[in-house]
Amino acid sequence: MMLFAPAETEPADISASLTRIVAGQSGTGVLTLPLSLPDAGPAVSDHEDNQPLALTAVPRKDFLLSRSPETGTEIGATGEKLTLTINSGDTLDSLFGRHNLSRADLMAVLELSDARSMLRDIKPGDRFEVTHSDGILQSLERRVNETTTVRVLRGEQGFVLQKIDHPIESRLAYRHGTINSSLFEAGKQANVADKVIMNLAGIFAWDIDFVLDIRDGDRFVVIYEEIWQEGELLRDGEIQAAEFINDGESYRALRYVDSSGKADYYTPDGHSVRKAFIRAPVDFSRVSSRFNPRRRHPILNVVRAHKGVDYAAPSGTQVKAAGDGKVIHRGRKGGYGNAIILQHGGNITTLYGHLSRFARQARVGRRVKQGQVIGYVGKTGLATAPHLHYEYRLNGVHRNPRTVSLPKAAPIAEDQREAFFQQTGGLLAQLDTVRRSQVAIAAIP
Ligand SMILES: [Zn+2]
Repeated sequence: MMLFAPAETEPADISASLTRIVAGQSGTGVLTLPLSLPDAGPAVSDHEDNQPLALTAVPRKDFLLSRSPETGTEIGATGEKLTLTINSGDTLDSLFGRHNLSRADLMAVLELSDARSMLRDIKPGDRFEVTHSDGILQSLERRVNETTTVRVLRGEQGFVLQKIDHPIESRLAYRHGTINSSLFEAGKQANVADKVIMNLAGIFAWDIDFVLDIRDGDRFVVIYEEIWQEGELLRDGEIQAAEFINDGESYRALRYVDSSGKADYYTPDGHSVRKAFIRAPVDFSRVSSRFNPRRRHPILNVVRAHKGVDYAAPSGTQVKAAGDGKVIHRGRKGGYGNAIILQHGGNITTLYGHLSRFARQARVGRRVKQGQVIGYVGKTGLATAPHLHYEYRLNGVHRNPRTVSLPKAAPIAEDQREAFFQQTGGLLAQLDTVRRSQVAIAAIP
């Protein structure tokens, strides 16, 4: 599946190319013709002014006006408005009974084609909006899913069912930021949600230690989907392309969906961003929110001649396996306190010390996956404050896990290369454009 049209030329204007990319995108959103909705104009209210109905007290007189899809004539519902909320054990029938609503009307509604499947499948928490006059059903409405509302209205020839579509639309957001206090702070200034920032850090977790390596002046560019509906941002979608410039070194990643539908991130030359080890085996979000690169280490502000890396973090912060491996030690180990040692391929071991407790799955002899939680930060052993002590050894010799060079992941399969470059070429050009605009902005005094 091809998600993006390749850019033939470098886009001169971001918004123009955005339009082109969204237009070329397939498989997102549900775009169907909306039925006529009652707009603000013809709604009749018993108020003299034009106050929105939502401001009136509940229960209230209300009026729904719509056009019958079959006849085109206007049909309406007037009456008392009720919200029925499904609780455990409720059926529509029991709810109608409890509110003295006509069960004969309910039966008639459920006779409508489509109505049964769209109204019968209910679960606790579901809500139905009802209007009625002395129990006589005038309208029944339910949001059946993110993109559809079903509305049943009483018409001259009985009930009429309408489906109202709420189309969703995917747009690309282009954001860039410069770090001068913390990554999350830079995200806020760039109008990027914390979750996107965390995903961004996740994409580069194999190259950058986001706890200890982030510097003032580090920059990022991120291009990600935003899911919009009826003029409102519903949620952020996947990051499509990203660049992180750490201490002057640029790292780039592009999202690619392969022919089997599997999505992953790759460098522009087609290598997976994944490597055998992540740089910082500690839950980044809990740590970095406290992290200020302008300040020296708040707790462990001492020079130590020790062979590991310390990550100050609140007690209970998740500690993750840096790579796939097997647990060869779990328990007390001298000054390390509660420690876990993992054996990896290539005669590499990693050690995680001062843990408050262990994850249940991390037992001696068990295999663990990269990123799997193996324990929790504590201050057992020789530690005065909660922190993770992390060591990386190759053939028994300590290496600095933050800088040790890791073998590149295998390149993308030969038969995927053409599709990869075609799919990601446009994104790469976009990254360049945003980066240039960032430089231009930075150059303005
Ligand atoms: Zn240490």
